[in-house]
Amino acid sequence: MLSASELLQELLKRARPLEKTETLPLSEAYNRVLAEGLTAYVSVPPLDNTAMDGYAVRSKDCREPDVRLKVTQRIAAGQVGKQLHRGEAARIFTGAPVPPGADAIVMQEDTSLDGEWVTVYKVPRPGDHIRRAGEDIQPGTSVLTPGTRMKAMHLGLAASVGRTQAKVFQQLRVAMFSTGDELAEPGKPLKPGQIYNSNRAMLHGLLTGLGVEIIDLGVVEDSREATVRVLQSAASKADVIVTTGGVSVGEEDHVKSAVEELGHIDIWKVAMKPGKPVVYGKIGETDFIGLPGNPVSAFITFCLFARPFLLKRIGAIQVLYRAYPVRAAFDWFKPGNRREFLRGLMVTGKDGAGEVRLYPNQSSGVLTSAVWADGLVDVEIGQTIIRGEWVRFIPFAELLN
Ligand code: AMP
Ligand code: MG
Repeated sequence: MLSASELLQELLKRARPLEKTETLPLSEAYNRVLAEGLTAYVSVPPLDNTAMDGYAVRSKDCREPDVRLKVTQRIAAGQVGKQLHRGEAARIFTGAPVPPGADAIVMQEDTSLDGEWVTVYKVPRPGDHIRRAGEDIQPGTSVLTPGTRMKAMHLGLAASVGRTQAKVFQQLRVAMFSTGDELAEPGKPLKPGQIYNSNRAMLHGLLTGLGVEIIDLGVVEDSREATVRVLQSAASKADVIVTTGGVSVGEEDHVKSAVEELGHIDIWKVAMKPGKPVVYGKIGETDFIGLPGNPVSAFITFCLFARPFLLKRIGAIQVLYRAYPVRAAFDWFKPGNRREFLRGLMVTGKDGAGEVRLYPNQSSGVLTSAVWADGLVDVEIGQTIIRGEWVRFIPFAELLN
């Protein structure tokens, strides 16, 4: 049985980044992975401009408080001013270019206006409230590197240097299905012995977060023939297949043997809780990842293993999540023989510092725990924890972004 870190290593070793690219307008590039670096050809901001509403002045003219200057021009954002002479001030608004001759901005709040004359109460220093041309970005700077996943701020930055489109990797095609004769689709009445299919909606959400193309194949009954049939069709149209359930050792678990019939299994089982059965194999050129059926196990194994694998497949550079040390607000006296990932919630402790609490029911079928929590407490094999000790915490923000 592999350890959780070995499994991650083995999976990443096998993940080949996509190669095919396409060029998309920024409005369609959200969540896609940049296939080339992005260099700026302009300065941001393009000109020295004011960070405040107020008056552009020559600091030489205002060496003492209460100087009176003549207001000779008005510059709104989008306009360009003219030369500012001795004894003059320009009425100016946030974002407007600083006129030639001016070297400081006086905030409106530090002045009073009387007709054409403004009194400047405060002595400005040269450069006050001026945003310098190029202080954000200089021409020729690389602003985004290949392998960046385009989130809102990346789109904004690309637009800020005048780009309308981005060269990104084509979408990875991921086929998904759930297994289990006991599964009923939400919306239909539950027959005796049935349980609603939570994994389908959950996996769909997890995959949507990665910006891949989803091929949802629904539910497959617990039989070898049906599983082989669906796998075959999935392999013909997808780059990766992700399934839940049917990978344990029971007689009703057909996924592993079906994959072996069509291809091969390289990995199965990981020493962790929840999760144990996690399968990796290949059918032709298509990767296969089989997750356990218990909803919490499926959620956690997806986040910890399938997600980094898929991130590498879609061409992303940053594929690993970060964990942070936080204080435990609980005792843990059950040293386990598998690494354990507990659902935890960050709260503010009595002294005002952050600490993590545990959901009382850590069973792998209790999806409520994952909704309540905002991350996972990572407990090593054999580890016990006393309240107040530092533990490793993996925020969901690291796993779902
Ligand atoms: P399995 O891995 O197929 O042995 O399933 C383990 C447990 O998870 C069983 O109790 C199943 O009923 C449950 N389970 C499997 N798949 C789903 C699903 N899609 N939605 C909800 N529960 C599931
Ligand atoms: Mg099953």
